[in-house]
Amino acid sequence: MAFDLSRARRETPGCENVLHFNNAGAALMPHCVLDAVVNHLNLEAQIGGYEAAARAQESVERVYAAAAQLIGCEADEIAIIENATRAWDMAFYAIPFKPGDRILTAISEYASNYIAFLQVAQRTGAIIDVIPNDASGQVSLEALQNSIDDRVKLIAVTHVPTNGGLVNPAAAVGKIARDAGVLYLLDACQSVGQMPIDVNVIGCDMLSATGRKYLRGPRGTGFLYVRRPLIEQLEPPFLDLHAADWVAVNQYQIRSDARRFETWETNYAGKIGLGVAIDYARQWELTAIYARITALARQLRDQLMTLPNVVVQDLGEEQCGIVTFTVADKPSEQIKHTLSLSDINVSVSSLLYARLDMEVRGNLDFVRASVHYYNSEAEVDQFCRTLASIF
Ligand SMILES: *Cc1c(COP(=O)(O)O)cnc(C)c1O
Repeated sequence: MAFDLSRARRETPGCENVLHFNNAGAALMPHCVLDAVVNHLNLEAQIGGYEAAARAQESVERVYAAAAQLIGCEADEIAIIENATRAWDMAFYAIPFKPGDRILTAISEYASNYIAFLQVAQRTGAIIDVIPNDASGQVSLEALQNSIDDRVKLIAVTHVPTNGGLVNPAAAVGKIARDAGVLYLLDACQSVGQMPIDVNVIGCDMLSATGRKYLRGPRGTGFLYVRRPLIEQLEPPFLDLHAADWVAVNQYQIRSDARRFETWETNYAGKIGLGVAIDYARQWELTAIYARITALARQLRDQLMTLPNVVVQDLGEEQCGIVTFTVADKPSEQIKHTLSLSDINVSVSSLLYARLDMEVRGNLDFVRASVHYYNSEAEVDQFCRTLASIF
């Protein structure tokens, strides 16, 4: 069945204003998400925040089942957290590390995660081992397999890095983790909403995701998945009266579902909006979404490659909707700024977001043009024509 692009664009108010290739930063929200968020804020203003939450209880609860359906788990394995970083942190900092425990990660690891590795390594004496890439630029499965020994406590990798089209072989990593009996934490921030994700196919124990990127949800939303048998073994780094009950003066009891990783106070409008965004994505179907995104990204890479002075920088065997490039002798920030004068949105991936990767590739930064299914082939043409005319 043909993809209904005109419906996708009609239901995305921002399409009228901008050529938005910053979907890996924050995608444009569809009408239904915007309305759900605004309506709930209005309700809070009109009848009170607690009262609005009570009245909207069903749509607030919906987000758990929606996220579970999206990634193939159960609703009680989902925690709704204000962003992917905190979601990831709540899992990572719950893992007890001893001196000599090894953390295996990959070159493309996201900066915030690596900073957390460094902090925990300094505190506990755990060791960070970075697995090299294979010739295609994805994490080397052979090197990962060869790094397994009984001191490995955790494999933590990023599925799709912030700074390029690379898709790491998350399921093959999961097979290695399972065979070795090692915990596996997947940063799926850029892949959830962009492609089909099934935690049982991937074989991860924990997964973090954000709302505002490929899911097209509101900012300040995200979620964490933790496999059920693991939940009660992971004591969250912070607790409050939502995560635990104060059962006696000197005693608390942590709840048994994944909401032990949440806090009591939260953005209800955002939570409702995230649920609506997930249901909306599932309506389009993630296989159809991914097929369209990869086709558009391929068109964009192909056209960029014909431009003089432009070098496409994406690595990997499988490439997704994040397209990165450089233009000879032109700083990426200048390109971003100049494009913005024509209402074209891109972002810049700097060294600071993925230092291991950017350092070895000798580039200070890339222009990142990330496409979504509601972008059009005509926009790809217009983007490349504009770029050619200004540089
Ligand atoms: C954006 C991003 C994050 C952080 O997500 P937040 O919701 O901003 O916390 C983590 N990992 C990757 C790969 C990202 O691109």
